[in-house]
Amino acid sequence: MPKNPSSESLVFAVDLGGTHLRVALVDDTGRILKQLKQETPKGDSAEGIVAALVKSAEGWDCDRQSVVAASIMVPGPVDKAVILQAPNLPSLVHFPLKAELEQKLGWPVFIENDANAAAVGEMWMGAARGCRDVVSVTLGTGVGGGVIVDGKLWRGSHGAGGEIGHTTVDPFSGLKCKCGNTGCLELFASATAIVRMTREKLSSFPQSKLKLDELTAEKVYDAGRNGDELALAVFKRFGMYLGIGLANLISLIDPQIIVIAGGAVNGWDLFATEMFRQVEVRAFRTSAQRVKIARAECGDNAGLLGAARLAFGQD
Ligand SMILES: [Zn+2]
Repeated sequence: MPKNPSSESLVFAVDLGGTHLRVALVDDTGRILKQLKQETPKGDSAEGIVAALVKSAEGWDCDRQSVVAASIMVPGPVDKAVILQAPNLPSLVHFPLKAELEQKLGWPVFIENDANAAAVGEMWMGAARGCRDVVSVTLGTGVGGGVIVDGKLWRGSHGAGGEIGHTTVDPFSGLKCKCGNTGCLELFASATAIVRMTREKLSSFPQSKLKLDELTAEKVYDAGRNGDELALAVFKRFGMYLGIGLANLISLIDPQIIVIAGGAVNGWDLFATEMFRQVEVRAFRTSAQRVKIARAECGDNAGLLGAARLAFGQD
């Protein structure tokens, strides 16, 4: 029997991205009761974003008594509820988002980095259920990471822990990352990287069916599944660098599980063999033999679930 929503604790969970704003009501068993997706208000005004969040919450008025907190995940490092960096939402950097929303919504408000929230979501309801030492790696436009040690999110001393995408995997590539470093993992193991690496090698594979002016990560993946040698070479390279990055993580953290999430995980069958090979060759043996490396299970909802879990106070 489904429980009556009015009798349980709910969290108003928010995925605040540069393009989309998703809100959900999540109960304390990890069920998403309602969900809504809209565009993030244009013009990047902090007040506009606050107004959109308040409007969404008010639209769900019938559940207000059951809501115990709001929990917002944002694309950038967060230290003590202050957003330190957010290239896609610059107006929120150092903006008193928590205080503004607490005053307008009347609930306690939590703010968390999106990759950290996704790690917690996978530990609560996804591939890392039952694990205490978890690393999640999100392969999207960039590469995000979340680290959980002994059941607790490990945020670092300054709110920027777990930035796996910005660890160096190739100092000699000469490729500059937007973070200022060269040779970051995200330059080789993201959707953006798939397109760039394909473009770089197009002239060496004249028989490839891929066309320069219409390259997307999905097209490269489709070509790879059809045996296109250029696409296969790109995904192999992707797997090699991802495996190097994971091997470093495994030797450092010795996790029970590494959960791989994000859009680029769709290419798993094309990059996994090389990824596992690198881990086997490079990671500290005891850890490498025991760690599980698995695809995420919560999809787009990992962050919303994790944000809710953090607000329920059970991280
Ligand atoms: Zn970087």
